[in-house]
Amino acid sequence: MAKKNPPYQGFEQGPIRPPSEARSLLIRITRNCPWNRCTFCTIYKREKFSVRPVADVIRDIETVHCHLQKIGELADSTGAIFRRDLGVLAGQTDQDEIEAFNAALNWYVGGMDSIFLQDANSLVIKPDYLVEILEHLKKRFPWISRITSYARSHSLARISDENLLRIKEAGLNRIHVGLETGADELLKLIQKGCTKEMHVKAGIKVKRAGMELSEYIMPGLGGGKLTELHALETADALNQIDPDFIRLRTTTLASDHPLFPEDNETPFVRMTDLEVVKEIKLFINALDGIGSTVKSDHMMNLLQTLEGKLPEDKPVMLNLLEDFLNLPVEQQVLFQVGRRFGFLYKIENLEKDHLKERAEQVCNQLGITQDNVDDIIEKNIRRIL
Ligand code: SF4
Repeated sequence: MAKKNPPYQGFEQGPIRPPSEARSLLIRITRNCPWNRCTFCTIYKREKFSVRPVADVIRDIETVHCHLQKIGELADSTGAIFRRDLGVLAGQTDQDEIEAFNAALNWYVGGMDSIFLQDANSLVIKPDYLVEILEHLKKRFPWISRITSYARSHSLARISDENLLRIKEAGLNRIHVGLETGADELLKLIQKGCTKEMHVKAGIKVKRAGMELSEYIMPGLGGGKLTELHALETADALNQIDPDFIRLRTTTLASDHPLFPEDNETPFVRMTDLEVVKEIKLFINALDGIGSTVKSDHMMNLLQTLEGKLPEDKPVMLNLLEDFLNLPVEQQVLFQVGRRFGFLYKIENLEKDHLKERAEQVCNQLGITQDNVDDIIEKNIRRIL
């Protein structure tokens, strides 16, 4: 007898999306993470994985479409919508549909160009289901240029080329993969559930299917002891894959949960900002023969302006890293503080007297010195995670 689906539980949104998908419509097709064992990741730890029935996902899409139509009807001949009219429309919306209304409104305001499929690994569902959802999205929103999703290399490496091509042709044209590191020793320690070879195989497969590929890596993941191995092996994996994007997401520990097994002979030793910048320099230097765009678009990164297209922008990126490394120690501390407390964005901002003074004030108030700056910043970051 066929298994019965549980009743529809209403429009759903998952907890996260990549930073680059801030303007995308989020469509949740699975809940949580089917792997859920990576030691650095706490997002889904207490949650059970499930695949949402296709009919429920399609109902979500229809609900958003319906709200979009109503929002679009408020626009005048120039496309502008009065806040007051939106308020009235929101007031007329059933409470149990407010989340869908807000998703539609955010997407409308964001330009309605892209869609992100949640949660952690959409490629784990049956290809036929995924194709059906993608085709429905394309039917409802034929103007969109991008549909993207997270996927694990493990799942990508197992899917057939033929199915991946079908999924691409149905509309999924960018995949975000958490590569984290190319070092096998480290992949094992963090329980990533895949090897460097698998990462490379999966990445090449995605490219061969004609999809854009975004690979996330985690500076600082090896701790002090494995920093060089991490930087060089990760660069080597990426040199074999040649992804469209390499995105940096600095290792940040949300809890005291150990990153490496407690009985491991090489315990994890958290790196300072300065050490992480040195590691990134080693990593960028080792990228070779690829045309990827490097991005540092995660809020946990110290140097968010680090960005460039390889190979031509490699010197620019290395210079930026050198600029930080060459600052006098007191200025490095001020920049760390200003960046982490949210009022400095780039190193040049230190030339603005009022911003520099503000960083000095914070240091004075919290007793921050070069010896404790990384500890105090970590405590501060943990508070917001
Ligand atoms: S696969 Fe991704 S979402 Fe799942 S535990 Fe690992 S990092 Fe977290």
